[in-house]
Amino acid sequence: MKQYMEMKGQHPNTLLLFQVGDFYEIFFNDAVVAARILQITLTSRDKEIPLCGFPIHAATHYMGKLLLAGHAITLCEQVEEAQAGKGLVRRAITRVITPGTIIEPSLLKQKEPNYLAALWQLEKDASSEAAKGRMGLAYLDLSTGDFRMTSSSSWQPMIDELCKVAPKEILLPVKLQAHLQPMIPAEFLLRSLSPSFFALKETTPLLTKQFGVYSIAALGGDPAAMAAAGAILRTVVETHKDALKNIRSLHPYSIGAYMNLPVSTQRHLALIPTGRESGSESGDTLFTLLDQTQTAMGGRLLREWILHPLLNPECIAYRQEGVAFFYDHLATRTHLRALLAKVADLARLIGRISVGTASVRDFIAMAHSIRILPEIAARFPSFPSGETYPVPIQEVFTAWDNLEDLRATIEQTLVAEPPPTLKDGGVIREGYSEALDHLRHFQRDGRAHLTQIEQDEKNRTGIDSLKVRYNQLQGYYIEVSEKQLSKVPADYTRKQTLTRAERFTIPALREIEEKMAGASAAILRLEEEAFSHLCTACSAEAARVQAVAGRVALLDVFAALAEVAHKNRYIRPVVHGEKTIHILDGRHPLLEKGNPTFVANDTTLGPPSDQILMLTGPNMAGKSTYMQQVALIVLLGQIGSFVPAKEAAIGIVDAIFTRVGASDHIQQGMSTFMVEMTEVAYLLHAGTDRSLFLLDEVGRGTSTFDGVSIACAIVEYVHKMKVRTLFATHYHELTRLARTYPGIRNLRMWVQERGEEIVFMRRLIEGGADKSYGIAVARLAGIPQEVIERAKHILATLETQATFSPIPAPP
Ligand code: ADP
Ligand code: MG
Repeated sequence: MKQYMEMKGQHPNTLLLFQVGDFYEIFFNDAVVAARILQITLTSRDKEIPLCGFPIHAATHYMGKLLLAGHAITLCEQVEEAQAGKGLVRRAITRVITPGTIIEPSLLKQKEPNYLAALWQLEKDASSEAAKGRMGLAYLDLSTGDFRMTSSSSWQPMIDELCKVAPKEILLPVKLQAHLQPMIPAEFLLRSLSPSFFALKETTPLLTKQFGVYSIAALGGDPAAMAAAGAILRTVVETHKDALKNIRSLHPYSIGAYMNLPVSTQRHLALIPTGRESGSESGDTLFTLLDQTQTAMGGRLLREWILHPLLNPECIAYRQEGVAFFYDHLATRTHLRALLAKVADLARLIGRISVGTASVRDFIAMAHSIRILPEIAARFPSFPSGETYPVPIQEVFTAWDNLEDLRATIEQTLVAEPPPTLKDGGVIREGYSEALDHLRHFQRDGRAHLTQIEQDEKNRTGIDSLKVRYNQLQGYYIEVSEKQLSKVPADYTRKQTLTRAERFTIPALREIEEKMAGASAAILRLEEEAFSHLCTACSAEAARVQAVAGRVALLDVFAALAEVAHKNRYIRPVVHGEKTIHILDGRHPLLEKGNPTFVANDTTLGPPSDQILMLTGPNMAGKSTYMQQVALIVLLGQIGSFVPAKEAAIGIVDAIFTRVGASDHIQQGMSTFMVEMTEVAYLLHAGTDRSLFLLDEVGRGTSTFDGVSIACAIVEYVHKMKVRTLFATHYHELTRLARTYPGIRNLRMWVQERGEEIVFMRRLIEGGADKSYGIAVARLAGIPQEVIERAKHILATLETQATFSPIPAPP
């Protein structure tokens, strides 16, 4: 236990796996946590200490589960053989494995990056005025080498960005933990480190060496961002020892270059599957809808596009050109997608090769994929008529790299169908090395020699059942059956007795045996050497492979978006720099799926006359759906995709803020209403006249008078902010605001009354609803008739008492 405590003390925030013989054992609170995640029995030692464990041979499986659940693991292993009566076995920490630095394919999701992130804030008294208190964020996917950094002057945009990145692990200095923890979603694993770990003084040499620059200024990042990047590089170098050849660039970017999507919007619009436990929360998301990509690389790029919609109409048009090309050329798209399906994850293959964990078969997969590259290029011959491809397609194929040399190196080194591991032997191709071929010849000769010995001995002894055989335990031997034992000559030495036969050896056999064993060992050594050369040769080309992976991903996403557009009848929107949004027959991309009766609706949004659309209508009428639909169409348009509508012209939106639904965050100690108001506060501060607001039932979480008053004041404020806003409410009193404010327009979801029943038409029409139909909806839901009658009576009484006087004029 003393030994255990000492080890645990070195890495207190990780789960310590303590080797005891053939098992890893876990103690104390670690055991409680692990037993729950692994669903294994929790026992106890000496009736006091909680304990659980699992056999080492099954470690990958169990460790994978712990890592996926967001825990870091410290392996403490026996470093000497246990001997009876010798007392305590020496143990040492052999490896620290963290969720952010995994590269094992079995532990990674194919179409998801696996980021390790770091946050840093410059000291307030930093030398330059501009840098004061700046915050930096950097993140690295070790499996692909994708490394980026950005910075900001306030935390909220950083946290929103962090949620887009969804890192598996976040490094941050201890002093920031208390401040940031409440802002960061609980599922992210935080690791606080001493501030000195981030010191640029210490990490500068690492950064300059890794990226081959003279000074870190050449990396182009903000000092805060570079400090964060330095901490990441330092962690990775510490866990993986070597400098990593697949980390070739550190890409600085500005958060402001992309659409701001706060966490609440990311969740509300169901952009990507979330939730660490696989699939639990996923369901229908925009990503799953759009993901017709054929490669993992394309899948990851698409995900990034969805989370980072563009703000520049030209960049958007560029992507649209790529999608449009594949939309228009069905045959090319079909062929390309079939070819892409055969391309393995080049980015992660070269990642494993660079880190040194690639298997023999990873190289074969690489060679197979490389063989597809010229076939892809061949699908895009130059048009005989002199017609040209759209620019994005041209650019993909400009200086297209078939990686010919890399494939040749692999194919000249490895046999076509090698056994799974090096140890099995026979991995390296004949003709690769003279020495190896020579040894193999010798081995083969040896075998011929053995046949010769067998023949000679048969002749010499007259034992016709005599056989020369081999097994791992005995090596080579001569087997003579029971019946002919009398003929065995005196120079035979007995090796083993079986029931029906005896096994012997002779000097000639022993001599060959030794030589053969020597040859096998030498062959293995040479094969290992050749393999290691191959690793070095391929990792030297990491940057080229990454570039190819990038181009393949881009083609894949273009084709995928075209496929989606084609299948779901999307059109190419016009995305422009004005502020108006016009949509003709827009549809909700997720809800229209599998719903042939989905009702399309038009949208005209934007100042001066349609800055705020005030949507009224009863619950269940389709208000929330409509608002989401507009936001999703805008977002799709700005990632370069086609959109579900008949026509669409989208005036760029710099941010989508949402306040929707009534989700409690009781864990965070906030009531529904508090959550609601916090989100509203944020958007009222952060929104610009370029943003889009979705305000759904604001003011619902409190009493009616309070609620109407707050909602009303918010609408007036938003009107002044000039933010394009969809405002859904069942406070039909708010429709009066349109009389006062020119930018507000009343729209309602059409419902037909048939006696006491209401029928939802799902169509948006002009004007405001004059009542809430709450009782009708309650009836529809099956509330007992008695309650309904009583409610009607109360309502009638209240209404005669005249509730609201007109909303007072603003000061
Ligand atoms: P509200 O916000 O007005 O209470 P919702 O937007 O939540 O209503 O819509 C309720 C349900 O109505 C949705 O879950 C969907 O099944 C259906 N619905 C909404 N809009 C449409 C539409 N345009 N066409 C068909 N069904 C719709
Ligand atoms: Mg609603």
